[in-house]
Amino acid sequence: MIYLDNAATTKLCTPAYDAMVSCLTGNFGNPSSIHASGQKAAATLYRSREIIAACIGAEPSEITFTSGGTEADNQSILSAALSGAETGKKHIVSTAFEHHAVINTLKKLEKQGFEITFLDVSGPECGGEGVVSPEQVAGAIRPDTCLVTVMSANNEIGTIQPVGEIGRICREKGVSFHTDAVQTAGHLRINVREQNIDMLSLSAHKFGGPKGAGVIFARKGLKLSPLMEGGSQERGKRPGTENLPAIAGMAAALEYSCKNIDADADRMRKLQDRLIDGISAIPGSILSGDRVKRLPGNVHFCFEGIESETLLLLLDNKGICASAGSACVSGSLEPSHVLLAIGRTPEIALGALRLTLGPDNTPEEIDETVDAVRETVAKLRSLRGTLY
Ligand code: PLP
Repeated sequence: MIYLDNAATTKLCTPAYDAMVSCLTGNFGNPSSIHASGQKAAATLYRSREIIAACIGAEPSEITFTSGGTEADNQSILSAALSGAETGKKHIVSTAFEHHAVINTLKKLEKQGFEITFLDVSGPECGGEGVVSPEQVAGAIRPDTCLVTVMSANNEIGTIQPVGEIGRICREKGVSFHTDAVQTAGHLRINVREQNIDMLSLSAHKFGGPKGAGVIFARKGLKLSPLMEGGSQERGKRPGTENLPAIAGMAAALEYSCKNIDADADRMRKLQDRLIDGISAIPGSILSGDRVKRLPGNVHFCFEGIESETLLLLLDNKGICASAGSACVSGSLEPSHVLLAIGRTPEIALGALRLTLGPDNTPEEIDETVDAVRETVAKLRSLRGTLY
């Protein structure tokens, strides 16, 4: 099997597995218990907080554990909206290609009387295809803006956003800045202080950690309102007994991936170039998103006259695990909102193929994939009687 769906989820790395096993066996206590077993668990919880904080340039007290990226996005945005509403500020700036965890939270706020500006990422004012420009963000901020939320990198087309510049603009204008860093954590360097980030969401299973664990970084002084009622875990910001095995696994995975970040990125960029060059040679293939400002592991194309689902099934028959884009929309025939946002027609958007690399992929796998995609696209077109 050739696994090329690392943006959907990644294989658990060995340090994460070891950390999890230790919490599933010997270190099984409840971190809120007073006795020795509980205190041992509490020490692991604190150590995990320290590790994650160090990886993103934060302080341990600024880290709140959640059930994943979706919860982290929801809570960050709803908290900022609540604080904004208290001072009469009910305008939010975002982009048209955010993950549904962000878009649907913003749409919910829209129904509650908030005004949302979804920045267009298809026009000449962008900083590259699928890249929002800092000037667009600056131009959209108003006196009643309470939040800017722009993802660090897009989960479908991999485009990297100018987070540091957006952060600087927001800081100058006194507006909170949240970034969904689910696709960048462990893959690109993050420093919340240098990048002027006020709130940030992470998800463990995108960087070699387990599913069902995530983080909110919220800068000291910002109010993080709980989504649920319950106990006083996570300093009252997120009730419920902490999922210690997953949290310890997440910390170990983030530390491990940050240690290898440059070497992995170098290796993956070479494979990415090889894959993009190979697929670009297929007639009627269109690269999605900026060629340079993209995550090291992301390759995304649309093929004229092809339906993604059939292509994915045939590639799967050849042992290649690929995707049409976001895992959350696969299984439906709707064109991706991300591709529509960068100006693709619905017909073209329905022929999407996302291949996302991991540190274990080899040049031989890349060559095999290029051959498989070329053959499969040609076969599907010949069945439809389309010449390219
Ligand atoms: N944000 C982005 C950019 C994502 O890619 C994902 C998952 O695909 C999420 C949020 C949701 O994360 P989780 O699966 O941990 O809920």
